[in-house]
Order: sequence, then C-alpha cells, then structure tokens
Amino acid sequence: MKALRSILIILLILVAGHSSAALRPETIRVAVVKGVETVTLDGNGVLVTGPNGEPLRLDPPIELRRSRDGVTVNGRPFSRIVATAAALVRVNGKGYRGIVEIGPGERGLLVVNELPLEEYLIGLINCEISSAWPMEAIKAQAVIARSYAVFQKAARKNAPYQLESSVMDQVYDGADQEDSRAARGVQETAGEVLTFNGRTIQAFYHANCSGHTEDSREVWGLSLPYLRGVPCKYCQEANPSRWEQTIPLKKVEGALKSAGYPVSGIREVRVGGRNESGRVQDVQITCSRGKVSVPGVAFRKAIGYGVVKSTNFDLLILGDDVMVAGAGSGHGVGLCQWGSKQRALDGFSYREILSYYYPGVQFSAAYSRPE
Ligand SMILES: [Zn+2]
Repeated sequence: MKALRSILIILLILVAGHSSAALRPETIRVAVVKGVETVTLDGNGVLVTGPNGEPLRLDPPIELRRSRDGVTVNGRPFSRIVATAAALVRVNGKGYRGIVEIGPGERGLLVVNELPLEEYLIGLINCEISSAWPMEAIKAQAVIARSYAVFQKAARKNAPYQLESSVMDQVYDGADQEDSRAARGVQETAGEVLTFNGRTIQAFYHANCSGHTEDSREVWGLSLPYLRGVPCKYCQEANPSRWEQTIPLKKVEGALKSAGYPVSGIREVRVGGRNESGRVQDVQITCSRGKVSVPGVAFRKAIGYGVVKSTNFDLLILGDDVMVAGAGSGHGVGLCQWGSKQRALDGFSYREILSYYYPGVQFSAAYSRPE
C-alpha cells in the first residue's frame, strides 16, 4: 500500500512537471546589434532565408549590408533576412541561440535574436553578475531577470523586439557567456517569477546601492509598493564603491544645455536637496542669467550614466572643472547586486534575498500575467 502510494506520488509529480513544462515554450526578442552598416553571419550549418522563408544558398561567412529600405546580400536586396543554425548563429563573431533576424532599424541595421527565455537567462548571468558568485545570488539574479523579461515582453508585445541587450534593459552578450553554474541557477528556479497581487512585477535592479536602495518614484515618478527602498549595508561589505570624476565646466554646461537647461556662463554648481535615501534630489546651478535647478536624475542622465555612476554624489567646482565624487553604481531601485552577493555569502537563500529587496512580493512557479 505504502509502495503504491509512493508510485502514485511520483506519477503526480511527473504529470505536474510535464504540464508546467508544456506551459513554458516562452521566447523573448532581444535587440543584439543596432545602428550598423554591415553585419557578418557565420556558424556551423547556418541556414539563411529571405522574408518569405525562401532559402538563400549562401556559403558562410555571409556579409549583409544596409540598403535604403532593407538589407543586401551579394548585391541582392531583401526586406529582411532570417538565420538559424543547428547550434549557434554567429553575428559579428558572437554566438546566438534560436533565430536571428536582420532588417532595417532606425539608424542602420537592426539584429534581433529570438530565443527561449530560459536559454537567454543562462547567457545573461555572466553579463549581469558572475557565475563565480554564490549559487543563491545566481538564483536571485535568474528570478529577477526572468521577471523583468516577462514584464517587458507583455509591455512591448507589438514592438519589433522586447529587450535591449544593454544596461538600458539587461545586458546580454549571447550564448558564449553560458556556463554550467549559470545554467544551474536558471534551471533550479526554472519558470519562477516574482509577483505582486498575482501579477509579475517590474523587477528593476542595479549594481551597487551604496547603503540604501531607492524608491522608484524618485527615479521614474512611478510609485510601486514593492520598489520603496530599503537599507542595504551589504554591498559596502562586498564591494565598497567610491568614485570620482573631474569634468571641465564647459562640458557640464554643454551637456546640460543639450538636455534643455539654459545654463550659459556657469558660476556655481552645488547639490540642492537630498531625498530619503540620501541621493541628490536636485542640483542648483548659478549661471549668468540666474539660478537653474536640475533634478539629480536629469543631471546624471545629461552628463552620462557612465561618468556619474549614481545620484549619490557631492559636487565641487575646482577652477575650470567640476569634481563629482560619489558612491555606488546604478539607479539604486530594486535589488542591489553586490548586496545580494553578500547576503548569499552570509547564508541567506535567494527567496530571502528577494523578499528583502522587493518587500511584499510572492513567488510564482510558472510565468504569470504582468501588471
Ligand atoms: Zn546595496
């Protein structure tokens, strides 16, 4: 009787496993190359077809060139080209799984990679963090990247692609970044997303919060109950991140003017207010025509995300330069990646880590409907 019950339980697990797997042929469309004049396709057994699926008998490597309203191959014009391969399609040397589509984009060619979401996540791990990090931090990264992708897929369902492959969305550099630890972190959380009120959340995250994560309202004017900002001393243990940049005053002036702020003849630059998380609310600028207030988020965007690494900074004028000295990296909203690494080293599970950075969220075993 006992043996029979065990068999029944095993059968039930198998059936349940099968049905959830059947729910998951989820794919994602990622823009992997944008705004270029030429693209080279290569790979073992790469098969290239035209817009109507007609096979183009071409020997790799294949060079594609931008034309006025499409793409040319060996001088032949096409509106778009689709490439697949048994293993990987190489685009400018980088390997990609699934399907690669090349067509005209806004400026130059647009290359979109459509692939199973779970495979995308395996490649993403080593672009966003490192698979040498503790397994619980890898699993936390897999769950937030999956949640973010599921949310964006629904939000951009009619767009040519759903995700950028840069920090604008999530960094993705193709299948060459995959490894066994990244695969394990993804597989052990297969299909799992974060939900709030039964819907997949907008799981923003960043590199290093430098002490306190940020309320989403401060960055995007979007108030979400699970993105309120929490104290985080953990990243400072794992990776104390202080930075300093000296920028010519003229350059600051030019950048702010390009962003629409009338700041000719800057005389003084100083931090105005700070918000609850300690980040700069506004920068007060005294220029020849009076005072101009620039939101901290807009200041960072205008000068450059790579230069002003976060909005947690101080400002000082030194002669003809502005010195920006700050801490942390990224917008500060949601999970702090370095904090998550330290929490994992301290013995917390990925679910404990996620519940800390996204208060009030639930875990859903299968993909669920985004908000
Ligand atoms: Zn942190």
